[in-house]
Amino acid sequence: MQIQWYPGHMAKARRMLEENLKLIDVVVEIVDARAPVASRNPDFDGLFANKERVILLNKSDLADQVATDRWQAEYARRGFSGISFVSTKTGKRKQAVSLIEQACRERVERMRLKGVTKVIRAIVVGIPNVGKSTFINCIAGVSRAQVGDKPGVTKGKQWVKISPYLELLDTPGLLWPKLESQACARHLAYIGSIKDDIMDVERLATQLMQELSVLCPEALTNRYAYVKADMPASEFLPAVCKSRGFLLPGGQIDTERAARIVLDEFRAGKIARVTLELPGDEEKLYAEEE
Ligand code: GDP
Repeated sequence: MQIQWYPGHMAKARRMLEENLKLIDVVVEIVDARAPVASRNPDFDGLFANKERVILLNKSDLADQVATDRWQAEYARRGFSGISFVSTKTGKRKQAVSLIEQACRERVERMRLKGVTKVIRAIVVGIPNVGKSTFINCIAGVSRAQVGDKPGVTKGKQWVKISPYLELLDTPGLLWPKLESQACARHLAYIGSIKDDIMDVERLATQLMQELSVLCPEALTNRYAYVKADMPASEFLPAVCKSRGFLLPGGQIDTERAARIVLDEFRAGKIARVTLELPGDEEKLYAEEE
């Protein structure tokens, strides 16, 4: 399966990230709550080692609530704060600000005891499409009062003032997913983080339906009347065509249209709130190499 990341892009993104990280105290890493393994790159743990970390399980409105709770507990076990979030909901600014404040509270207190009023600087990072810009808009609000360039800061970097002692970098840091794993690539494709114009959509939708037939068989069969959870995978898309009446001139079934519909409906959360990966799945997912 192809991915839109190439070594040149990765090197550039990493350079920019490393340059920005020098100025940063808190890293807000956004993952997709439907695929917390595939949408995170564990290789970055080293890069962020000396920073305060918050992991945001974004798009939790599309994920299974029980699974999201399990992920929050898992992040706490690993020593990060992991928080379930929906960046597209209105009125979430206060929650967003307070979770960043909480992550850096100890640091601010330490500085205060020394008599220093330090401004804490945060960056939002994540792979494409997890909701970085939406989160920044959510936290920065409509006014987007920019703090402007600071001495020692590369010209053009903009800081948004979030609270008297907290500033957020206006531009998110772009991370790339772990590319070697086929299972991760597939999950990213299901959730729309890898463009599907470079993939075989019928194969992808069939694989997604196979996974859904195990994770949420009832939701799948309720959505597409002629689909049975235990039918051979090759019959899934023809059954969707039958359910929706997708016929081509001449009476042939339009399986490509069915595939696109299944992927679109899954991504919009119309089939069910589904989480594809649970804590503990990492090893199995990473093992499926190209
Ligand atoms: P970025 O590439 O990481 O900056 O992602 P964007 O902020 O552009 O968001 C990608 C898509 O996800 C957009 O269509 C957003 O509206 C959508 N999105 C972002 N956050 C959420 C969320 O919490 N829930 C849902 N359902 N959609 C979201």
